[in-house]
Amino acid sequence: MTITNLLGKIKKYKLPVDLDMVQLAYDFAAEAHKNQIRFNGEPYIEHPLRTAQILVKLRMDEPTIIAGLLHDVPEDTSKTLQDIKDNFGEEVALLVEGITKLGKLKYRGVDRYLDNLRKMFLAMASDIRTIIIKFADRLHNLETLSALPSRKQQRIAQETLEIYGPIAQRLGIGVLRTALEDQAFKYAVPKDYERIKALMADRKKPLLKTLAQVKKRLTQVLAENNIEVIDSHGRTKGLYSLYRKLQRYDNDINQIYDLIALRMVVPTVADCYATLGIIHSIYRPLKGKIKDYIAQPKPNHYRSLHTTVFSDQGGIVEIQIRDIKMHEEAEYGIAAHWHYKEFGSEEIPDEYLDWVKELAKWHRTKEDQVDYLKSLKLDVFQDRIFVFTPQGDIIDLPENSTAIDFAYHIHTEVGNQAVGAKVNDQMTSLDVKLKSGDILEIITDKGRKGPNYDWLKFVKTRSARGKIRQYAKPHIWQRLKRW
Ligand code: MN
Repeated sequence: MTITNLLGKIKKYKLPVDLDMVQLAYDFAAEAHKNQIRFNGEPYIEHPLRTAQILVKLRMDEPTIIAGLLHDVPEDTSKTLQDIKDNFGEEVALLVEGITKLGKLKYRGVDRYLDNLRKMFLAMASDIRTIIIKFADRLHNLETLSALPSRKQQRIAQETLEIYGPIAQRLGIGVLRTALEDQAFKYAVPKDYERIKALMADRKKPLLKTLAQVKKRLTQVLAENNIEVIDSHGRTKGLYSLYRKLQRYDNDINQIYDLIALRMVVPTVADCYATLGIIHSIYRPLKGKIKDYIAQPKPNHYRSLHTTVFSDQGGIVEIQIRDIKMHEEAEYGIAAHWHYKEFGSEEIPDEYLDWVKELAKWHRTKEDQVDYLKSLKLDVFQDRIFVFTPQGDIIDLPENSTAIDFAYHIHTEVGNQAVGAKVNDQMTSLDVKLKSGDILEIITDKGRKGPNYDWLKFVKTRSARGKIRQYAKPHIWQRLKRW
């Protein structure tokens, strides 16, 4: 990719951006990174160029695009932040500083992880554009991940799924979330990725056919009712998002009705409701599937009307109805505030980023830690839980983990000799599902010989499962020998 391509994109999107400044930033970055080669053998400048291209596609503002071009300069070259400030001004320098401070987030133990998260929320609280540049940086790194050793691929992919995806989702940036997650999914769990990809491919064709029929009939009926259809198109569900949803539905694809959804964009909110009424007058809706996210937006401010209907041919289709502003926000979330003319240069409403500010305020005291983790869990992280030992050490486990998973995480012997558990000072059984913030104590019996194989029915972590099985093997073998 070249700077000419980038400038061309900016012109195509008609962004209010000074092309000369972008050219200058490119020249500056190209000079600073000259002779540097990326791990995939390309000249280094390709990376900042691609990062800036993603920001242009998101239609971000001029300082953000320029900061995207310069984002690796202070850390990887002899040029300093002061040089950037002298050449491109305070605002760009602050953005680049924010990204540099974030550094390279690494998932290494819960304490480091929390520190990193706090750093990230601090940077986001001072300027949310920092995290958007970081997303673009990460997305391009994922796109070139195949050149890295597999251990590194795994770490970066995992971190993307656990941290970046949920934050992009919480900021409502649907396009980035799907791109980040689907790229990372491929490396994090390759087998599942292939399985889900094939599953989608199998279903896609007949679904698209049904969708086209519904779209045709609907467009006609809406025209008869004087409702203008600004845009209608099918959207395919992201593969990672499908994978997660399948886990909640016993892996039964027949229960997933939004593999492909039909989107209808109409002029006004009143038209949205009128469209919903018309749809229900010609197609029968499925019970419990009508959702009014206009009256009750999702926490990330997503708005639309959803309904799922039986089509004429018997196929089931989800339809999403929205106006242009809602559509823009559904795709770009917080980023829409930098480019959509109806948002103009409006400030982002305070409550949009209250959760970020809350998370940034956190200080490291023990009581706070519980609350912090709970709020993180509520706001951003859906897949992990954080529980505590009686000494206040944090243990992170996958969702739906039990006391036995915790016990094996502490020590193999604690697991093998576990007879009961205390959760928040209450005695409970060993199969109790843990929640973030729980304080756990495992009751052991030194006389106990080994694990109960029935535990295999409910343990969640691979390590607990492995340790229980491992114990089983030599003992069965000994029994056999004796026999
Ligand atoms: Mn970078």
